[in-house]
Amino acid sequence: MTPDFEPVIGLEIHVQLKTRTKMFCGCELSFGAPPNTLTCPVCLGLPGALPVANARAIHFALMIGLALGCELADHSVFHRKNYFYPDLPKGYQISQYDEPLCRGGELAGVRLHRVHLEEDAAKLIHLGASGRIHGSEQSVVDFNRGGTPLVEIVTEPELRSPEQAREWLTLLRATLRSLAVSDVNMEEGSLRADANVSLRAAGSSELGTKTELKNMNSFRFLERGIAAEIARQRVTLEAGGSIEQETLHFDPVSGEITSLRSKEEAQDYRYFPEPDLVPIATTVAMLRAAREAIVELPRARAERFEDEYGLSVDSAHLLAFRFELANYFEKVVAVREGIDGQQIANWLTQLVARIGDQDPAQSKVTPEAMAQLVELISARAVSAPAGREVLDVLVREGGDPASVVEQRGLGALHDEDGALEAIVGQAIAADPAAVQRVRGGNDKAIGALVGAVMRETRGRADGADVTRLIREQLGI
Ligand code: ADP
Ligand code: MG
Ligand code: ZN
Repeated sequence: MTPDFEPVIGLEIHVQLKTRTKMFCGCELSFGAPPNTLTCPVCLGLPGALPVANARAIHFALMIGLALGCELADHSVFHRKNYFYPDLPKGYQISQYDEPLCRGGELAGVRLHRVHLEEDAAKLIHLGASGRIHGSEQSVVDFNRGGTPLVEIVTEPELRSPEQAREWLTLLRATLRSLAVSDVNMEEGSLRADANVSLRAAGSSELGTKTELKNMNSFRFLERGIAAEIARQRVTLEAGGSIEQETLHFDPVSGEITSLRSKEEAQDYRYFPEPDLVPIATTVAMLRAAREAIVELPRARAERFEDEYGLSVDSAHLLAFRFELANYFEKVVAVREGIDGQQIANWLTQLVARIGDQDPAQSKVTPEAMAQLVELISARAVSAPAGREVLDVLVREGGDPASVVEQRGLGALHDEDGALEAIVGQAIAADPAAVQRVRGGNDKAIGALVGAVMRETRGRADGADVTRLIREQLGI
């Protein structure tokens, strides 16, 4: 019998802080500035240059630590992490080692190992075939990114599935967005996640050998990459093989996993305390300022959605744990006083099914259009199936729901004009078996008749009207 395996996942997340200047110098952060225009002797690692820690970055890191329930150190130290790579002009990265700013903490039941401050490396750009000089491929370095403040968040290995990892990262993102400390955009690299993955016999409390998937740059790829690595390890283990500890790359296009380096090639970073920086002494005033800067975290927002708009617990979480979706929801609710919040939440689920991870505010469906659609449906001017069709059109082309309904003849069919009555009559005549079952007391069989009417009307009939007409015509 093959043992049943359980996945174990831990995430290491890098977050670029949205300060005005870099971590250890006065250069501004780059948002698409021409390459190598935002540099100075400090971030270029020139001899004699001295770093000074960015107070605002420390403030942001404390906010993150507080929001995640970490224990904040009153004394924490910067270390040099030594390695040689073209994107690192000093030959070391200033990071934190055994005395990080924050330890422990928890988010949605997943405990955190630590949260620390460091600086980003510069950006190495491989020119590929077009950049060949003397026959060899060239790479260039943009030092604008070098020295950008980063917070690294490390979880305990407590995630259990690719879906959970994605959901959890979505909540972390919403938390960081509500703190306004980062853009947290995976595509743009202001949020980067490495996933550590292992399998173990289900029920075992020991950890298996892990591999590390580097830098997945979207929520979808993170989920797919972890799923692919779980599948790979499962095949190996089921064949009686063992997992080698290594760093891997997941190619989202081919779905392939390739090795970047094995454990033997792992580097010794020769950490030592950064002699040019004093330790961070966290004062009561710094803690108070960080605490006061925290506004509304996703959990509190979810509770407010329940209280203020009468949302179900599930809907409230679904919205509040996705920052942009929650903002969009609040815009839709604000369009008209008294509009049904739960209905909007339900239709936002429909919208998400169509636009995925895209920010709804960037979609073609305006909050006004969304509100109008929900109102048309609530007023039974549009049936639910027809409403979904209207939404398809809005997602593709934009516009306002009332005109889409008008142009495409998607308005609800009520029984006033007699047309619906006739269609109901046909449905009854066409399915004597269902009629017999309904008459025999099987109330569920009425669904077959309703379904027939819906098909005939392409979903435009009003469900309540149809059921009533069927009952009337059958005299029950
Ligand atoms: P390393 O020393 O290789 O960096 P750490 O112990 O610092 O490993 O853990 C790094 C990350 O890997 C953390 O997010 C942790 O939760 C996760 N992790 C550690 N061991 C495992 C394991 N056996 N399976 C899955 N994830 C793990
Ligand atoms: Mg590590
Ligand atoms: Zn600089």
